Amino acid sequence: MQCVACGARYPPHPRLVRCPRCGGLLDVKVEPARPPSWRLWEQRRPGVWRYRELLPAVSGVKPVSIGEGATPLVELENIGRMLGFRRLYAKNEGQNPTGSFKDRGMTVAVTLAKAAGARALVVASTGNTAASVSAYGARAGLRRIVVVPRGKTALGKLAQSVLYGADIVEIEGSFDDALRAVMEAVGRDARLYPLNSFNPWRLEGQKTLAYEVVEALGGEPPDWVVVPVGNAGNISAIWKGFRELHRHGLIDRLPRMAGVQAEGAAPLARAWRKGLNEPLFVDKPETRATAIRIGHPVNWPKAMRAVRESNGVFTMVSDREILRAQAMLARLEGVAVEPASAASLAGLIKLVEEGVISSDETVVIVLTGHGLKDPQAMLEAGARRYVAAGVEDAVKLVTSLAGG
Ligand SMILES: *Cc1c(COP(=O)(O)O)cnc(C)c1O
Ligand SMILES: [Zn+2]
Repeated sequence: MQCVACGARYPPHPRLVRCPRCGGLLDVKVEPARPPSWRLWEQRRPGVWRYRELLPAVSGVKPVSIGEGATPLVELENIGRMLGFRRLYAKNEGQNPTGSFKDRGMTVAVTLAKAAGARALVVASTGNTAASVSAYGARAGLRRIVVVPRGKTALGKLAQSVLYGADIVEIEGSFDDALRAVMEAVGRDARLYPLNSFNPWRLEGQKTLAYEVVEALGGEPPDWVVVPVGNAGNISAIWKGFRELHRHGLIDRLPRMAGVQAEGAAPLARAWRKGLNEPLFVDKPETRATAIRIGHPVNWPKAMRAVRESNGVFTMVSDREILRAQAMLARLEGVAVEPASAASLAGLIKLVEEGVISSDETVVIVLTGHGLKDPQAMLEAGARRYVAAGVEDAVKLVTSLAGG
């Protein structure tokens, strides 16, 4: 493991989640025991653990797995045609066990936490990480404590943590406050194992999204990968995945990374526009896309590096554009996502308009979470709804609608 801030190196350990010397983020360097190859991987069941040569060693323990990864790469035929693309795809992460990409990271990190003898898992979350920790912690037989912003957590996500049997702490404050509380608690009590995305082991699982995309595209990387950015772990993890494939000779070029933020929570996109090397942190982030309602993204150094190294870009979109993109995905492609996920389509549309992405390129947008996570947002999309007084009335309505 190596600190991205001070460069210090450490032997890997599951409990090592921040640099002991300077508090910086740690990067995991994987040295595979045998060379990874598509041939080897193809023989195994699809999913995160198929790629175990490039994952942290968990010899002797059975992975805590509920069937994460192996999500479909859906060709967006109708939206693609509308925008002039011939190769536009969506990686639909909503089809993970708890409905978001967080499960890719949790299978790895919870496996390591269990192997290291952790008693209780703890996490600050806008909702999806809490749902994922709650499920994987349940599977592992560990206590799980989630801290979420009170009144700001989408109903579906909160309901998941309830059903999975977590202890739920609702904090009067933002996600950033929840995270501060978790960090403080972890510092005081060594029984707690923190699972926020500064935990580098989670990112190791999340990077497998890149491997699956390349596999689905027949061994070729796309030209662009468009990712919604909140705490900025996912974009960092996906970029790490592509870089590792490149380093091991499994691809011969790299994609460009586009990170999309919501206007009311855009510390990275605003800094990028001004050519700054550090985020313009936001103290009171606001957006309907609650999963990216984050003003102080913990993983910003890794994310800035990913976008810079890949010759990519950060951009931002309004809530209106996000909700419009959400409706487009549902109504043109039959794909239901939560608002944060739709930020990637909204960002793509913006980048095409600005001439940054060209429609003859191959693009993958990452749809990070399922629509059912946020039923309120789904209802706000507005439908033509009718009330029928009885059977005869309903028959009349249905037949009159058939031609409309
Ligand atoms: C967590 C999450 C994000 C943001 O990912 P980061 O790694 O925090 O940048 C985006 N969309 C959804 C649905 C999420 O759950
Ligand atoms: Zn350090």
